[in-house]
Amino acid sequence: MANTDRTAISHVFRGTFIHATQKTAVQILEDALVGVDTEGKVAFIGKGDKLDTLSRTFGFSPREVTQLTQHEFFMPGMIDSHIHASQYSYAGTALDLPLLQWLSTYTFPVESRFKDLEFAKKVYTQVVKRTLRNGTTTACYFATIHTDASLLLGQIANEFGQRALVGKVCMDRNNSVKHYRETTQESQEETCRFIVELLNKKYPLVKPVVTPRFAPSCTGALLGQLGSIAKNNHLHIQSHVSENIEEVNLVKELFPESESYTDVYHKYNLLTDKTVLAHGCHLTDKELDLLRETGASLSHCPSSNFSLCSGVLNVRNVLNRKVKLGLGTDVAGGYSASMLDAVRRTLDASKVLTIQDPDHDTLTFEEVFRLATLGGSQALSLDDQTGNFVVGKDFDALRVNVAAPGAPIDLIQSEEPKILLEKFLNLGDDRNIVEVFVAGRRVVPFAEPVE
Ligand SMILES: [Zn+2]
Repeated sequence: MANTDRTAISHVFRGTFIHATQKTAVQILEDALVGVDTEGKVAFIGKGDKLDTLSRTFGFSPREVTQLTQHEFFMPGMIDSHIHASQYSYAGTALDLPLLQWLSTYTFPVESRFKDLEFAKKVYTQVVKRTLRNGTTTACYFATIHTDASLLLGQIANEFGQRALVGKVCMDRNNSVKHYRETTQESQEETCRFIVELLNKKYPLVKPVVTPRFAPSCTGALLGQLGSIAKNNHLHIQSHVSENIEEVNLVKELFPESESYTDVYHKYNLLTDKTVLAHGCHLTDKELDLLRETGASLSHCPSSNFSLCSGVLNVRNVLNRKVKLGLGTDVAGGYSASMLDAVRRTLDASKVLTIQDPDHDTLTFEEVFRLATLGGSQALSLDDQTGNFVVGKDFDALRVNVAAPGAPIDLIQSEEPKILLEKFLNLGDDRNIVEVFVAGRRVVPFAEPVE
């Protein structure tokens, strides 16, 4: 009787599950039974010794249970809260200039090529596949100013089953590469077209995000229009803030009436509880407080911050000030599309601060694991859907085998789950990620042969 309106169970897994909660950075559930329903949601989480009861209650056969091996565990899919899909073609190169020169020398010329849909399709397919197989179940993407190519990115993410926020970039100010910019009116109209067309596709996991590139490449008029568009349609917003000192000074020159860089976005209604701003290396405490008050979050992108010598964000201070924070790869300012790299660079950045100041309270690997999963989902205001294993949330998960053949980890002896997690975060790669699930659907290994 109790089962009649319950959705049917599609998978049941038994083994170690590791995730983060608000209270506990690393919670380990040993010999757990986790059921996923046909809508892709976690239907139950129980103990292995309750198999008989759970199978009766939820109507599955104990023979259908998938048993994990000794060196395997499930963890939540990782959330890349800031990545430029359009910059993937030159990832791993062009890391020798500071931000503003880097943009005009490398980035804008490449991004302007996305008018060509064939080129866009090639790059976007590769970046979606590469991030998925590296365990990014949710990505918050910047595309380019081109509406049709940005829609194509949404289509590709949907086809491969990745959860994604996709942003058509807006910029009506660019003096360095003049052919890569829009008029204010074009930017506003094309943003509206992008939103309507993407929403009309009704992709279950792909949503538009309003994307002013950053204050220096937008006029106040455009920022104001984008703030209204986001508000009227209850949309996510993404941009950059306070990445390097030269940029912060440029914003002061361009927006002399604003009290701070963060205040520019606030003035144009771009700080909401669905806003994520990348970097924030040089924010004042007052600006952090403004982010907390408005519910806006930060995406910490340490690989990029090191590569472009932008700065070192004090994540401890951000967390102490109760600002939501996720991690981002920031491809291609960051050279790696893997969130495991973002995890490692986050630990490195925190240790750099401790080297400079021994009193600095270094982040632990447990805390960084939480930032890469639950923290990212909170930063993107998607924590009602993903981020950890909770009944009713979508099953976004990585099946990790620390001892996978050919993978880069040598296990000398059997280890407890927390050590397995630590080894994976520090030493593992995609060869250890044997399966990836998004909303209950297995998306890695890919359905078709991988080139
Ligand atoms: Zn960026």
